[in-house]
Amino acid sequence: MHLPVFDNAFLRALPGDPEPRNFARQVEGAAWSVVAPTPVAAPRLLAHSREMAAELGFDEADLASPAFAAVFGGNALLPGMQPYATNYGGHQFGHWARQLGDGRAISLGEAVLADGHRRELQLKGAGPTPYSRGADGRAVLRSSIREFLCSEAMHHLGIPTTRALSLVGTGEGVVRDMLYDGHPEVEPGAIVCRVAPSFLRFGHFELPSMRGDIDLLRRLVDFCIARAAFEWNAPHLAGRGEALHADWFGEVCERTAHLVAGWMRVGFVHGVLNTDNMSILGLTIDYGPYGWIDAYDPDWTPNTTDAAGRRYRFGWQPRVAYWNLGQLARALSPLFADPAPLQDGLARFATAFTDADRDATARKLGLAECRDDDVERMRALHGLLQVHEVDMTLWFRALADLDPQAPSLQPLEAAFYDPGKRAAGEAAFMDWLAGHAARLREDPLPASERRARMHAANPKYVLRNWLAQEAIDRAHAGDLGGVETLLEVMRRPYDDQPGREHFAGKRPEWAKDRVGCSMLSCSS
Ligand code: AMP
Ligand code: MG
Repeated sequence: MHLPVFDNAFLRALPGDPEPRNFARQVEGAAWSVVAPTPVAAPRLLAHSREMAAELGFDEADLASPAFAAVFGGNALLPGMQPYATNYGGHQFGHWARQLGDGRAISLGEAVLADGHRRELQLKGAGPTPYSRGADGRAVLRSSIREFLCSEAMHHLGIPTTRALSLVGTGEGVVRDMLYDGHPEVEPGAIVCRVAPSFLRFGHFELPSMRGDIDLLRRLVDFCIARAAFEWNAPHLAGRGEALHADWFGEVCERTAHLVAGWMRVGFVHGVLNTDNMSILGLTIDYGPYGWIDAYDPDWTPNTTDAAGRRYRFGWQPRVAYWNLGQLARALSPLFADPAPLQDGLARFATAFTDADRDATARKLGLAECRDDDVERMRALHGLLQVHEVDMTLWFRALADLDPQAPSLQPLEAAFYDPGKRAAGEAAFMDWLAGHAARLREDPLPASERRARMHAANPKYVLRNWLAQEAIDRAHAGDLGGVETLLEVMRRPYDDQPGREHFAGKRPEWAKDRVGCSMLSCSS
Protein backbone atom coordinates (compact mmCIF):
# COMPACT_ATOMS: atom_id res chain seq x y z
CA MET A 1 0.00 0.00 0.00
CA HIS A 2 1.12 3.56 -0.69
CA LEU A 3 2.57 5.06 2.47
CA PRO A 4 2.04 8.81 2.81
CA VAL A 5 4.81 10.75 4.51
CA PHE A 6 3.67 11.81 7.95
CA ASP A 7 5.08 14.72 9.91
CA ASN A 8 3.04 15.37 13.01
CA ALA A 9 3.95 19.00 13.57
CA PHE A 10 0.96 19.74 15.80
CA LEU A 11 2.16 17.18 18.34
CA ARG A 12 5.66 18.66 18.26
CA ALA A 13 4.62 22.28 18.52
CA LEU A 14 1.96 22.03 21.24
CA PRO A 15 2.12 20.55 24.74
CA GLY A 16 0.53 17.11 25.18
CA ASP A 17 -1.28 15.50 28.06
CA PRO A 18 1.12 13.27 30.08
CA GLU A 19 -1.67 10.80 30.99
CA PRO A 20 -1.43 7.83 28.59
CA ARG A 21 -4.60 6.02 29.74
CA ASN A 22 -7.91 6.50 27.94
CA PHE A 23 -10.62 7.64 30.34
CA ALA A 24 -12.89 10.67 30.36
CA ARG A 25 -11.31 13.60 32.20
CA GLN A 26 -10.52 17.29 32.31
CA VAL A 27 -7.23 17.97 30.56
CA GLU A 28 -5.40 21.13 31.61
CA GLY A 29 -2.29 22.70 30.14
CA ALA A 30 -2.32 20.49 27.06
CA ALA A 31 -3.66 20.77 23.51
CA TRP A 32 -3.92 17.03 22.88
CA SER A 33 -3.97 13.57 24.39
CA VAL A 34 -2.57 10.36 22.99
CA VAL A 35 -5.37 7.94 22.18
CA ALA A 36 -5.59 4.96 19.85
CA PRO A 37 -8.70 4.11 17.85
CA THR A 38 -10.70 1.25 19.36
CA PRO A 39 -10.66 -1.69 16.92
CA VAL A 40 -13.93 -2.70 15.26
CA ALA A 41 -15.33 -6.13 14.36
CA ALA A 42 -15.35 -6.08 10.56
CA PRO A 43 -14.16 -2.92 8.81
CA ARG A 44 -15.31 -2.63 5.21
CA LEU A 45 -14.75 0.24 2.78
CA LEU A 46 -18.22 1.40 1.73
CA ALA A 47 -17.29 4.49 -0.28
CA HIS A 48 -14.37 6.77 -0.99
CA SER A 49 -13.57 10.04 -2.69
CA ARG A 50 -11.42 9.38 -5.70
CA GLU A 51 -10.06 12.94 -5.65
CA MET A 52 -8.96 12.66 -2.03
CA ALA A 53 -7.50 9.20 -2.55
CA ALA A 54 -5.49 10.49 -5.52
CA GLU A 55 -4.30 13.56 -3.61
CA LEU A 56 -2.99 11.30 -0.84
CA GLY A 57 -1.44 8.88 -3.32
CA PHE A 58 -3.72 5.87 -2.83
CA ASP A 59 -4.47 3.87 -5.99
CA GLU A 60 -7.24 1.39 -6.85
CA ALA A 61 -5.28 -1.56 -5.45
CA ASP A 62 -4.76 0.27 -2.15
CA LEU A 63 -8.45 1.08 -1.92
CA ALA A 64 -9.41 -2.55 -2.56
CA SER A 65 -7.00 -3.98 -0.02
CA PRO A 66 -8.18 -5.12 3.42
CA ALA A 67 -5.31 -3.07 4.87
CA PHE A 68 -6.98 0.15 3.72
CA ALA A 69 -10.26 -0.69 5.46
CA ALA A 70 -8.30 -1.76 8.53
CA VAL A 71 -6.43 1.56 8.76
CA PHE A 72 -9.44 3.77 8.05
CA GLY A 73 -11.68 1.67 10.27
CA GLY A 74 -9.31 2.16 13.19
CA ASN A 75 -7.83 -1.36 13.36
CA ALA A 76 -4.29 -0.59 12.16
CA LEU A 77 -1.86 2.28 11.74
CA LEU A 78 0.45 3.16 8.89
CA PRO A 79 4.08 3.95 9.70
CA GLY A 80 4.34 7.53 10.89
CA MET A 81 0.78 7.78 12.22
CA GLN A 82 0.53 8.94 15.85
CA PRO A 83 -3.13 9.02 16.90
CA TYR A 84 -4.37 11.78 19.19
CA ALA A 85 -7.47 13.70 20.21
CA THR A 86 -7.42 17.47 20.72
CA ASN A 87 -8.68 19.63 23.54
CA TYR A 88 -11.18 22.43 22.96
CA GLY A 89 -14.17 24.16 24.49
CA GLY A 90 -16.99 26.11 22.97
CA HIS A 91 -20.12 28.17 23.22
CA GLN A 92 -23.10 25.93 22.53
CA PHE A 93 -26.38 27.71 21.72
CA GLY A 94 -24.94 30.89 23.20
CA HIS A 95 -23.66 29.43 26.47
CA TRP A 96 -20.12 28.61 27.50
CA ALA A 97 -19.93 24.79 27.65
CA ARG A 98 -16.39 24.42 29.10
CA GLN A 99 -14.19 21.54 27.93
CA LEU A 100 -15.58 19.58 24.98
CA GLY A 101 -12.72 18.26 22.84
CA ASP A 102 -12.54 15.53 20.22
CA GLY A 103 -15.01 13.16 21.83
CA ARG A 104 -15.26 10.90 18.82
CA ALA A 105 -12.62 12.22 16.48
CA ILE A 106 -9.12 10.81 16.47
CA SER A 107 -6.44 12.34 14.29
CA LEU A 108 -4.03 9.85 12.79
CA GLY A 109 -1.37 12.35 11.77
CA GLU A 110 -0.45 14.95 9.18
CA ALA A 111 0.28 13.65 5.69
CA VAL A 112 2.70 15.92 3.82
CA LEU A 113 1.89 16.19 0.12
CA ALA A 114 4.50 16.57 -2.59
CA ASP A 115 3.87 20.33 -2.74
CA GLY A 116 4.38 20.70 1.01
CA HIS A 117 0.70 21.10 1.86
CA ARG A 118 -0.42 19.22 4.92
CA ARG A 119 -3.47 17.05 5.23
CA GLU A 120 -4.49 15.96 8.68
CA LEU A 121 -6.31 12.63 8.56
CA GLN A 122 -8.99 12.30 11.20
CA LEU A 123 -11.29 9.38 11.95
CA LYS A 124 -14.76 10.29 13.17
CA GLY A 125 -16.43 7.54 15.16
CA ALA A 126 -13.31 5.52 16.02
CA GLY A 127 -14.12 5.05 19.69
CA PRO A 128 -13.92 6.95 22.96
CA THR A 129 -11.24 9.47 23.86
CA PRO A 130 -10.43 11.41 27.04
CA TYR A 131 -12.91 14.01 25.73
CA SER A 132 -15.88 11.68 25.24
CA ARG A 133 -17.62 12.79 28.44
CA GLY A 134 -19.28 9.41 28.92
CA ALA A 135 -20.46 9.04 25.31
CA ASP A 136 -19.39 6.12 23.13
CA GLY A 137 -17.12 7.81 20.61
CA ARG A 138 -18.97 6.11 17.76
CA ALA A 139 -21.00 7.30 14.78
CA VAL A 140 -23.91 5.72 12.93
CA LEU A 141 -24.02 4.95 9.23
CA ARG A 142 -26.76 7.48 8.40
CA SER A 143 -24.86 10.47 9.82
CA SER A 144 -21.56 9.22 8.41
CA ILE A 145 -23.07 8.99 4.90
CA ARG A 146 -24.36 12.54 5.35
CA GLU A 147 -20.94 13.83 6.41
CA PHE A 148 -19.10 11.91 3.72
CA LEU A 149 -21.34 13.08 0.88
CA CYS A 150 -21.78 16.66 1.97
CA SER A 151 -18.06 17.26 2.53
CA GLU A 152 -17.40 16.32 -1.06
CA ALA A 153 -20.51 18.08 -2.41
CA MET A 154 -19.49 21.31 -0.65
CA HIS A 155 -16.01 21.10 -2.12
CA HIS A 156 -17.37 20.67 -5.64
CA LEU A 157 -19.64 23.67 -5.10
CA GLY A 158 -16.45 25.66 -4.53
CA ILE A 159 -17.16 26.40 -0.87
CA PRO A 160 -14.33 25.83 1.64
CA THR A 161 -14.80 22.63 3.61
CA THR A 162 -13.11 19.75 5.33
CA ARG A 163 -12.99 16.80 2.94
CA ALA A 164 -13.78 13.11 3.26
CA LEU A 165 -11.47 10.34 2.10
CA SER A 166 -13.41 7.26 3.10
CA LEU A 167 -16.54 5.79 4.59
CA VAL A 168 -15.91 2.53 6.40
CA GLY A 169 -18.61 0.30 7.88
CA THR A 170 -17.55 -1.12 11.25
CA GLY A 171 -19.63 -4.30 11.28
CA GLU A 172 -20.80 -3.25 14.73
CA GLY A 173 -24.04 -1.83 16.02
CA VAL A 174 -24.38 1.56 17.71
CA VAL A 175 -27.32 2.40 19.96
CA ARG A 176 -29.01 5.74 19.32
CA ASP A 177 -32.27 7.33 20.42
CA MET A 178 -32.66 9.32 17.21
CA LEU A 179 -35.36 11.72 18.36
CA TYR A 180 -34.42 11.65 22.05
CA ASP A 181 -37.91 10.34 22.82
CA GLY A 182 -37.13 7.11 24.66
CA HIS A 183 -36.90 4.81 21.62
CA PRO A 184 -33.26 3.70 21.39
CA GLU A 185 -32.38 1.42 18.50
CA VAL A 186 -29.32 -0.43 17.29
CA GLU A 187 -28.05 1.08 14.08
CA PRO A 188 -25.10 0.14 11.86
CA GLY A 189 -21.88 1.92 12.82
CA ALA A 190 -19.46 3.67 10.46
CA ILE A 191 -16.31 5.77 10.42
CA VAL A 192 -15.51 8.66 8.11
CA CYS A 193 -11.91 9.69 7.52
CA ARG A 194 -11.99 13.46 7.22
CA VAL A 195 -9.17 15.47 5.73
CA ALA A 196 -8.16 19.11 6.26
CA PRO A 197 -5.01 21.21 6.64
CA SER A 198 -6.07 21.55 10.27
CA PHE A 199 -9.19 20.82 12.31
CA LEU A 200 -8.56 23.65 14.78
CA ARG A 201 -11.75 25.40 15.86
CA PHE A 202 -12.57 28.69 17.58
CA GLY A 203 -13.10 26.56 20.68
CA HIS A 204 -9.44 25.54 20.73
CA PHE A 205 -8.58 29.16 21.54
CA GLU A 206 -11.51 29.77 23.86
CA LEU A 207 -10.67 26.97 26.28
CA PRO A 208 -7.13 28.02 27.30
CA SER A 209 -8.23 31.65 27.32
CA MET A 210 -11.13 30.93 29.68
CA ARG A 211 -8.77 28.98 31.90
CA GLY A 212 -6.22 31.80 31.93
CA ASP A 213 -3.61 29.60 30.24
CA ILE A 214 -2.18 32.40 28.11
CA ASP A 215 0.99 30.52 27.27
CA LEU A 216 -0.98 27.70 25.63
CA LEU A 217 -3.22 30.24 23.91
CA ARG A 218 -0.21 32.02 22.42
CA ARG A 219 1.40 28.81 21.27
CA LEU A 220 -1.81 27.70 19.57
CA VAL A 221 -2.09 31.03 17.80
CA ASP A 222 1.50 30.89 16.60
CA PHE A 223 1.07 27.35 15.33
CA CYS A 224 -2.13 28.23 13.60
CA ILE A 225 -0.74 31.37 11.96
CA ALA A 226 2.16 29.41 10.49
CA ARG A 227 -0.25 26.76 9.17
CA ALA A 228 -2.70 29.35 7.85
CA ALA A 229 0.01 31.42 6.16
CA PHE A 230 1.01 28.42 4.09
CA GLU A 231 -2.43 26.96 3.40
CA TRP A 232 -3.88 30.35 2.48
CA ASN A 233 -0.76 31.29 0.54
CA ALA A 234 -0.51 34.39 2.72
CA PRO A 235 3.22 34.90 3.27
CA HIS A 236 2.57 38.24 5.02
CA LEU A 237 1.31 36.16 7.92
CA ALA A 238 4.78 34.84 8.76
CA GLY A 239 6.40 35.75 12.06
CA ARG A 240 5.12 36.70 15.51
CA GLY A 241 3.87 39.63 17.55
CA GLU A 242 0.72 41.61 18.16
CA ALA A 243 0.41 43.23 14.72
CA LEU A 244 0.66 39.82 13.16
CA HIS A 245 -1.94 38.39 15.51
CA ALA A 246 -4.25 41.21 14.51
CA ASP A 247 -3.63 40.64 10.81
CA TRP A 248 -4.36 36.95 11.18
CA PHE A 249 -7.55 37.54 13.17
CA GLY A 250 -8.76 39.93 10.46
CA GLU A 251 -8.04 37.26 7.87
CA VAL A 252 -10.00 34.68 9.89
CA CYS A 253 -12.91 37.15 9.94
CA GLU A 254 -12.75 37.63 6.17
CA ARG A 255 -12.50 33.91 5.48
CA THR A 256 -15.49 33.28 7.72
CA ALA A 257 -17.44 35.94 5.84
CA HIS A 258 -16.68 34.27 2.51
CA LEU A 259 -17.67 30.92 3.93
CA VAL A 260 -21.06 32.10 5.15
CA ALA A 261 -21.71 34.04 1.95
CA GLY A 262 -21.08 30.79 0.08
CA TRP A 263 -23.63 28.95 2.24
CA MET A 264 -26.21 31.70 1.70
CA ARG A 265 -25.67 31.57 -2.05
CA VAL A 266 -26.45 27.86 -2.32
CA GLY A 267 -29.01 27.48 0.49
CA PHE A 268 -26.97 25.50 3.00
CA VAL A 269 -27.95 25.57 6.67
CA HIS A 270 -25.23 24.24 8.98
CA GLY A 271 -27.62 23.65 11.84
CA VAL A 272 -25.18 23.74 14.80
CA LEU A 273 -23.02 26.83 14.52
CA ASN A 274 -21.58 26.54 18.00
CA THR A 275 -18.09 27.99 18.35
CA ASP A 276 -16.65 24.48 18.60
CA ASN A 277 -18.02 23.88 15.09
CA MET A 278 -16.30 26.93 13.56
CA SER A 279 -13.06 26.19 11.72
CA ILE A 280 -10.21 28.64 12.28
CA LEU A 281 -9.32 28.15 8.59
CA GLY A 282 -12.80 29.19 7.48
CA LEU A 283 -13.86 25.71 6.38
CA THR A 284 -17.28 24.13 6.69
CA ILE A 285 -16.74 21.65 9.54
CA ASP A 286 -18.78 19.10 11.50
CA TYR A 287 -21.63 18.03 9.26
CA GLY A 288 -24.40 17.07 11.66
CA PRO A 289 -28.07 18.06 11.43
CA TYR A 290 -27.40 20.33 8.45
CA GLY A 291 -29.94 20.90 5.70
CA TRP A 292 -30.49 22.48 2.32
CA ILE A 293 -33.23 24.95 1.62
CA ASP A 294 -36.03 23.52 -0.50
CA ALA A 295 -38.82 26.14 -0.38
CA TYR A 296 -37.06 29.42 0.40
CA ASP A 297 -37.38 30.17 4.10
CA PRO A 298 -34.86 32.24 6.07
CA ASP A 299 -36.45 31.02 9.31
CA TRP A 300 -35.88 27.33 8.65
CA THR A 301 -33.56 25.24 10.78
CA PRO A 302 -33.12 21.54 10.11
CA ASN A 303 -32.01 20.87 13.69
CA THR A 304 -34.75 19.66 16.06
CA THR A 305 -32.50 20.52 19.02
CA ASP A 306 -32.63 24.11 17.77
CA ALA A 307 -36.38 24.14 17.07
CA ALA A 308 -37.31 26.28 20.08
CA GLY A 309 -34.98 29.27 19.60
CA ARG A 310 -34.05 28.64 15.97
CA ARG A 311 -30.74 30.32 16.65
CA TYR A 312 -29.18 28.51 13.71
CA ARG A 313 -31.89 29.25 11.15
CA PHE A 314 -30.78 29.87 7.56
CA GLY A 315 -31.18 33.64 7.58
CA TRP A 316 -29.32 34.13 10.84
CA GLN A 317 -26.09 32.44 9.80
CA PRO A 318 -24.23 35.69 9.01
CA ARG A 319 -25.05 37.24 12.38
CA VAL A 320 -24.28 33.99 14.22
CA ALA A 321 -20.89 33.78 12.51
CA TYR A 322 -20.25 37.36 13.60
CA TRP A 323 -21.26 36.54 17.17
CA ASN A 324 -18.91 33.55 17.11
CA LEU A 325 -16.07 35.73 15.84
CA GLY A 326 -16.83 38.04 18.75
CA GLN A 327 -16.26 35.12 21.12
CA LEU A 328 -13.01 34.34 19.33
CA ALA A 329 -11.95 37.99 19.69
CA ARG A 330 -12.70 37.84 23.39
CA ALA A 331 -10.64 34.65 23.70
CA LEU A 332 -7.71 36.29 21.91
CA SER A 333 -7.90 39.55 23.85
CA PRO A 334 -5.26 38.56 26.46
CA LEU A 335 -2.74 38.68 23.61
CA PHE A 336 -3.58 42.33 22.91
CA ALA A 337 -2.75 45.41 24.95
CA ASP A 338 -5.53 47.30 23.20
CA PRO A 339 -8.78 45.80 21.79
CA ALA A 340 -8.88 48.14 18.76
CA PRO A 341 -7.17 45.70 16.34
CA LEU A 342 -9.69 43.02 17.27
CA GLN A 343 -12.55 45.43 16.63
CA ASP A 344 -10.97 46.27 13.28
CA GLY A 345 -10.86 42.55 12.48
CA LEU A 346 -14.55 42.17 13.26
CA ALA A 347 -15.26 45.12 10.99
CA ARG A 348 -13.49 43.24 8.20
CA PHE A 349 -16.15 40.52 8.56
CA ALA A 350 -18.94 43.00 7.90
CA THR A 351 -17.20 44.50 4.87
CA ALA A 352 -16.19 41.15 3.42
CA PHE A 353 -19.65 39.67 3.92
CA THR A 354 -21.38 42.63 2.29
CA ASP A 355 -18.99 42.50 -0.66
CA ALA A 356 -19.32 38.74 -1.10
CA ASP A 357 -23.09 38.92 -0.77
CA ARG A 358 -23.33 41.67 -3.39
CA ASP A 359 -21.09 39.69 -5.68
CA ALA A 360 -23.36 36.65 -5.23
CA THR A 361 -26.41 38.83 -5.94
CA ALA A 362 -24.91 40.01 -9.23
CA ARG A 363 -23.96 36.49 -10.28
CA LYS A 364 -27.23 34.89 -9.21
CA LEU A 365 -29.29 37.50 -11.05
CA GLY A 366 -27.04 37.52 -14.12
CA LEU A 367 -25.73 41.07 -13.80
CA ALA A 368 -22.26 42.38 -14.57
CA GLU A 369 -22.22 44.22 -11.25
CA CYS A 370 -24.42 44.71 -8.21
CA ARG A 371 -25.98 48.15 -7.74
CA ASP A 372 -27.79 49.27 -4.60
CA ASP A 373 -31.15 48.83 -6.31
CA ASP A 374 -30.17 45.22 -7.12
CA VAL A 375 -29.74 44.54 -3.42
CA GLU A 376 -33.27 45.86 -2.93
CA ARG A 377 -34.55 43.77 -5.83
CA MET A 378 -32.98 40.64 -4.38
CA ARG A 379 -34.53 41.38 -1.00
CA ALA A 380 -37.94 41.79 -2.59
CA LEU A 381 -37.49 38.53 -4.48
CA HIS A 382 -36.58 36.68 -1.30
CA GLY A 383 -39.76 37.97 0.27
CA LEU A 384 -41.84 36.64 -2.63
CA LEU A 385 -40.08 33.27 -2.65
CA GLN A 386 -40.79 32.87 1.05
CA VAL A 387 -44.43 33.91 1.03
CA HIS A 388 -45.32 31.88 -2.04
CA GLU A 389 -43.35 28.75 -1.16
CA VAL A 390 -40.89 28.64 -4.04
CA ASP A 391 -37.92 26.28 -4.32
CA MET A 392 -34.72 28.31 -4.01
CA THR A 393 -32.46 26.10 -6.12
CA LEU A 394 -34.97 25.56 -8.92
CA TRP A 395 -35.93 29.22 -9.07
CA PHE A 396 -32.43 30.61 -9.45
CA ARG A 397 -31.35 27.91 -11.87
CA ALA A 398 -34.35 28.53 -14.09
CA LEU A 399 -33.97 32.30 -13.92
CA ALA A 400 -31.22 31.95 -16.53
CA ASP A 401 -33.98 30.94 -18.99
CA LEU A 402 -35.86 34.22 -18.60
CA ASP A 403 -36.18 36.21 -21.80
CA PRO A 404 -35.48 39.88 -20.93
CA GLN A 405 -37.52 40.93 -23.96
CA ALA A 406 -40.58 38.91 -22.94
CA PRO A 407 -40.49 38.08 -19.22
CA SER A 408 -42.91 35.40 -18.06
CA LEU A 409 -43.31 32.88 -15.28
CA GLN A 410 -43.27 30.04 -17.75
CA PRO A 411 -39.62 28.91 -17.31
CA LEU A 412 -40.03 29.14 -13.53
CA GLU A 413 -43.22 27.10 -13.09
CA ALA A 414 -41.44 24.00 -11.77
CA ALA A 415 -40.12 25.94 -8.77
CA PHE A 416 -43.55 26.37 -7.15
CA TYR A 417 -44.76 23.91 -4.52
CA ASP A 418 -48.32 25.07 -4.05
CA PRO A 419 -50.61 26.01 -6.98
CA GLY A 420 -52.75 28.18 -4.68
CA LYS A 421 -49.78 30.17 -3.44
CA ARG A 422 -48.49 30.46 -6.97
CA ALA A 423 -51.78 31.88 -8.20
CA ALA A 424 -51.91 34.29 -5.27
CA GLY A 425 -48.41 35.53 -6.13
CA GLU A 426 -48.75 35.71 -9.89
CA ALA A 427 -49.23 39.47 -10.17
CA ALA A 428 -46.42 40.23 -7.71
CA PHE A 429 -44.04 37.86 -9.49
CA MET A 430 -44.90 39.33 -12.89
CA ASP A 431 -44.17 42.74 -11.47
CA TRP A 432 -40.83 41.61 -10.13
CA LEU A 433 -39.90 39.88 -13.37
CA ALA A 434 -40.79 42.98 -15.39
CA GLY A 435 -38.48 45.09 -13.21
CA HIS A 436 -35.74 42.51 -13.43
CA ALA A 437 -36.08 42.22 -17.21
CA ALA A 438 -35.80 46.01 -17.55
CA ARG A 439 -32.65 45.90 -15.44
CA LEU A 440 -31.21 43.10 -17.61
CA ARG A 441 -31.85 45.16 -20.73
CA GLU A 442 -29.60 47.90 -19.29
CA ASP A 443 -26.88 45.42 -18.35
CA PRO A 444 -23.93 45.06 -20.76
CA LEU A 445 -23.46 41.27 -20.50
CA PRO A 446 -24.10 39.35 -23.73
CA ALA A 447 -26.82 36.69 -23.34
CA SER A 448 -24.55 33.65 -23.56
CA GLU A 449 -22.09 35.08 -21.05
CA ARG A 450 -24.92 35.95 -18.70
CA ARG A 451 -26.29 32.45 -18.85
CA ALA A 452 -22.90 30.86 -18.12
CA ARG A 453 -22.31 33.29 -15.25
CA MET A 454 -25.70 32.48 -13.74
CA HIS A 455 -25.24 28.75 -14.09
CA ALA A 456 -21.86 28.99 -12.35
CA ALA A 457 -23.47 30.68 -9.33
CA ASN A 458 -26.78 28.78 -9.18
CA PRO A 459 -26.17 25.05 -8.77
CA LYS A 460 -28.50 22.61 -10.44
CA TYR A 461 -27.74 19.83 -7.94
CA VAL A 462 -27.48 20.23 -4.18
CA LEU A 463 -27.48 17.50 -1.55
CA ARG A 464 -31.07 17.95 -0.48
CA ASN A 465 -31.93 16.07 2.69
CA TRP A 466 -34.35 13.75 0.95
CA LEU A 467 -31.72 12.77 -1.61
CA ALA A 468 -29.30 11.85 1.16
CA GLN A 469 -32.13 9.99 2.90
CA GLU A 470 -32.84 7.91 -0.22
CA ALA A 471 -29.18 6.89 -0.32
CA ILE A 472 -29.25 6.13 3.42
CA ASP A 473 -32.37 3.96 3.09
CA ARG A 474 -30.70 1.97 0.31
CA ALA A 475 -27.48 1.65 2.32
CA HIS A 476 -29.44 0.29 5.28
CA ALA A 477 -30.74 -2.38 2.89
CA GLY A 478 -27.15 -3.22 1.93
CA ASP A 479 -27.06 -1.29 -1.35
CA LEU A 480 -24.41 1.42 -1.58
CA GLY A 481 -25.31 2.35 -5.14
CA GLY A 482 -27.25 5.39 -3.94
CA VAL A 483 -24.21 6.82 -2.16
CA GLU A 484 -22.03 6.26 -5.18
CA THR A 485 -24.50 7.85 -7.59
CA LEU A 486 -25.04 10.90 -5.37
CA LEU A 487 -21.30 11.38 -5.01
CA GLU A 488 -21.01 11.24 -8.79
CA VAL A 489 -23.85 13.73 -9.38
CA MET A 490 -22.52 16.16 -6.76
CA ARG A 491 -19.11 16.20 -8.42
CA ARG A 492 -20.53 18.53 -11.11
CA PRO A 493 -23.23 20.54 -9.37
CA TYR A 494 -23.25 23.41 -11.88
CA ASP A 495 -23.47 21.25 -15.04
CA ASP A 496 -26.66 20.01 -16.63
CA GLN A 497 -26.47 16.23 -16.39
CA PRO A 498 -29.00 14.70 -18.81
CA GLY A 499 -30.76 11.66 -17.37
CA ARG A 500 -30.28 12.84 -13.80
CA GLU A 501 -33.43 14.94 -13.50
CA HIS A 502 -34.41 13.04 -10.34
CA PHE A 503 -31.52 14.68 -8.49
CA ALA A 504 -32.56 18.16 -9.58
CA GLY A 505 -36.19 17.79 -8.58
CA LYS A 506 -38.04 19.55 -5.82
CA ARG A 507 -38.75 17.92 -2.50
CA PRO A 508 -41.28 15.10 -2.94
CA GLU A 509 -44.38 15.02 -0.76
CA TRP A 510 -43.14 12.02 1.27
CA ALA A 511 -40.12 14.00 2.43
CA LYS A 512 -42.03 17.00 3.74
CA ASP A 513 -42.40 15.71 7.29
CA ARG A 514 -40.10 12.72 7.26
CA VAL A 515 -37.43 12.42 9.98
CA GLY A 516 -34.03 12.78 8.34
CA CYS A 517 -35.46 15.11 5.69
CA SER A 518 -37.31 18.00 7.27
CA MET A 519 -36.04 17.36 10.79
CA LEU A 520 -32.76 16.07 12.05
CA SER A 521 -31.49 15.68 15.57
CA CYS A 522 -27.94 15.91 16.85
CA SER A 523 -28.13 12.17 17.61
CA SER A 524 -25.60 10.68 15.27
P1 AMP B 1 -21.26 18.12 18.07
O1 AMP B 1 -22.59 18.55 18.56
O2 AMP B 1 -21.30 16.92 17.16
O3 AMP B 1 -20.48 19.23 17.47
O4 AMP B 1 -20.44 17.59 19.34
C1 AMP B 1 -20.24 18.36 20.49
C2 AMP B 1 -19.27 17.64 21.39
O5 AMP B 1 -19.78 16.34 21.75
C3 AMP B 1 -17.90 17.41 20.80
O6 AMP B 1 -16.96 17.54 21.83
C4 AMP B 1 -18.00 15.98 20.31
O7 AMP B 1 -16.74 15.37 20.22
C5 AMP B 1 -18.86 15.34 21.39
N1 AMP B 1 -19.58 14.15 20.91
C6 AMP B 1 -20.65 14.12 20.08
N2 AMP B 1 -21.06 12.85 19.88
C7 AMP B 1 -20.24 12.04 20.59
C8 AMP B 1 -20.13 10.62 20.79
N3 AMP B 1 -20.98 9.76 20.23
N4 AMP B 1 -19.15 10.18 21.60
C9 AMP B 1 -18.29 11.03 22.18
N5 AMP B 1 -18.33 12.36 22.05
C10 AMP B 1 -19.29 12.88 21.26
MG1 MG C 1 -18.68 19.42 16.82
